[in-house]
Amino acid sequence: MRRWLAVVVLGLVVAGCGSEPVAQHTPVLDPVVTAGIPASSPPTTATTTTAPEVVVVLNPGHNGGNASHPAEINRQVPAGGGQVKACDTTGTETDDGYPEHAFTWDVTLRVRAALEARGVTVVLTRQDDTGVGPCVDERAAIGNRPDAAAVVSVHADGASTEGASGFHVIYPDPPRNEAQGEPSSRLATTLRDGLVGAGFAPANYTGRDGLDGRDDLAGLNLSERPAVFVECGNMRDAAEAAVLGSDDGKQRYAAAIAAAVLTYVGR
Ligand code: ZN
Repeated sequence: MRRWLAVVVLGLVVAGCGSEPVAQHTPVLDPVVTAGIPASSPPTTATTTTAPEVVVVLNPGHNGGNASHPAEINRQVPAGGGQVKACDTTGTETDDGYPEHAFTWDVTLRVRAALEARGVTVVLTRQDDTGVGPCVDERAAIGNRPDAAAVVSVHADGASTEGASGFHVIYPDPPRNEAQGEPSSRLATTLRDGLVGAGFAPANYTGRDGLDGRDDLAGLNLSERPAVFVECGNMRDAAEAAVLGSDDGKQRYAAAIAAAVLTYVGR
């Protein structure tokens, strides 16, 4: 019995590790369709419906191997709007040395779990926190799958200004296609409202009311789907770093982000 349990638990862990998430469809009998069908009728496809698949792409900023691979990371890549920029960066860190890539990875896994629990198919732009890249243009390309209802990049900021703190959600401005317009703005506003509702303060040093439009981010410039960046807070602010580095804080960020994404995609 003990061995059987161990095998089952191991199987679950392996399945959840690195494998592409598979949508969970629960067939729902439609009472209107089934009402007129005698109980003896053989089941037909017309008697069952499945919830439409919803796909969300989550992009955990940076990667744990970036710092040790400067040549790959500094390579210039297209950033949209005729711009080029480095493939990626190492990201910032708290004064205690807690790196942004570890924060974004941790929060992203929590958001993924919350979304998958509601039947959303989640695609990640990287599969671990030890690799290099992918480059920002490659991340954008992953997000550009036509069925992506929303593309959310998770970051934390590293502002050195004394007293700078709070979150901000970045949206593409000016929009370069339809998805970068109203859908991206609405996604940004929904996330902003969700974070405020969860008790997080909008940034006091950048953007306005927790929102910031930018034209220099490849992940937004190159996006053909509704896309935003969430800068959860300032890792260089001691008080905010304590929240960003805590299990409780990361869970609160993740819950707020997931709830807002579910609102946006209508789940
Ligand atoms: Zn970042």
